[in-house]
Amino acid sequence: MIHLAKRMNRLGTETAFEVLAKARALEAKGKNIIHLEIGEPDFDTPSNIKNAAKKALDDGFTHYGPAAGLPSLRETIAKHVADTRKIGVGPQHVVVTPGGKPIMFFLILACIDEGDEVIYPNPGFPIYESVIEFVGGTAVPLQLKEEHQFRFAIDDLKRLITKKTRLLILNSPQNPTGGILTEEDLRAIAQLAKEHDFLVLSDEIYSETIYDGHRHFSISTVPGMLERTVILDGFSKTFAMTGWRLGYGVMPEELAKLVTKLQINATSCTASFSQIAGIEAISGPQDEVAKMVKEFQRRRDVIVDGLNSIPGIRCQKPAGAFYVFPNITGTGRDARELADYLLNEAGVACLSGTAFGKFGEGYLRFSYANSVSNIETALGRIAKALKK
Ligand code: PLP
Repeated sequence: MIHLAKRMNRLGTETAFEVLAKARALEAKGKNIIHLEIGEPDFDTPSNIKNAAKKALDDGFTHYGPAAGLPSLRETIAKHVADTRKIGVGPQHVVVTPGGKPIMFFLILACIDEGDEVIYPNPGFPIYESVIEFVGGTAVPLQLKEEHQFRFAIDDLKRLITKKTRLLILNSPQNPTGGILTEEDLRAIAQLAKEHDFLVLSDEIYSETIYDGHRHFSISTVPGMLERTVILDGFSKTFAMTGWRLGYGVMPEELAKLVTKLQINATSCTASFSQIAGIEAISGPQDEVAKMVKEFQRRRDVIVDGLNSIPGIRCQKPAGAFYVFPNITGTGRDARELADYLLNEAGVACLSGTAFGKFGEGYLRFSYANSVSNIETALGRIAKALKK
């Protein structure tokens, strides 16, 4: 028997990958499945970015690079983040990682001791809770509420803060609900962070995927927050580059040094040619990004209207990301059971709200990173399956 470390019992996972595997197994048996479970844009990476990577390969960017990222990309990211968040940051604050995900892992590893408390959104990206518990921290769920458009109530946050609170995780626009925090919310949260002296991990990976004229507001913009905020962002969602594994964190310099040290221990560096492509993604033409966001908004409207026309389902119209999080309590089924039923009976893959934490019960998550015609077919199938 292989001896395993006790901490492995505390490591969670992302159910999306498990549901995808189940859906693929059904497809292998000949069943037609519409994939609304996966959190990645269905668009191809824009061609100017792909061409930059091809040239980078020919130019010899096939070797190890500096652990914190290529200086040219760190410079480009720093300028972009400084402009979009209106903050004074430079390349020394930027660490480039293979996707944004390692920033969560490295930051929590660097800052959380056993018994330290971390407040995180629930329902929320499952990796937050998983990593907090993995390192021996105490994961304190902050409930996002449908009646607040899936924001949290500031009073709820106040109640959860203790002397042991070290870190608050924010995610806006949010996975899985599509909700966004308002500037007013963020200013109130910033006040609490300063008063109680905790750090904020602001997961802004969906910052460009935002609709109806809303603008992304980062907590780092609030005076006094730059020195206690880590911004997580990346290329996966904005530029349809999930497979390139390219993301970054922007943080106080002393933390950037430690996160870089963890990166040296874990991955050495991010692929060099991906990084060169990242420079083109940020500095090149942005019209493809605008086109993708416009198309996502069209799909959002189709899926929200369609779900609301199905008896037993009630769905808000979210302002960001590419997910909807409908309330399914009116169907009389619990979330997991309904997600399984829709996969097997209707050939529609989606995720149970509980894949995002205990406060996800009563909800499903659909990703609308799929064509309007597939979304319409899926809606028809769901309506039919629920009539049975
Ligand atoms: N943060 C959130 C909220 C996400 O939904 C995801 C991906 O699904 C990530 C971070 C990580 O993305 P990546 O590692 O591809 O940059």
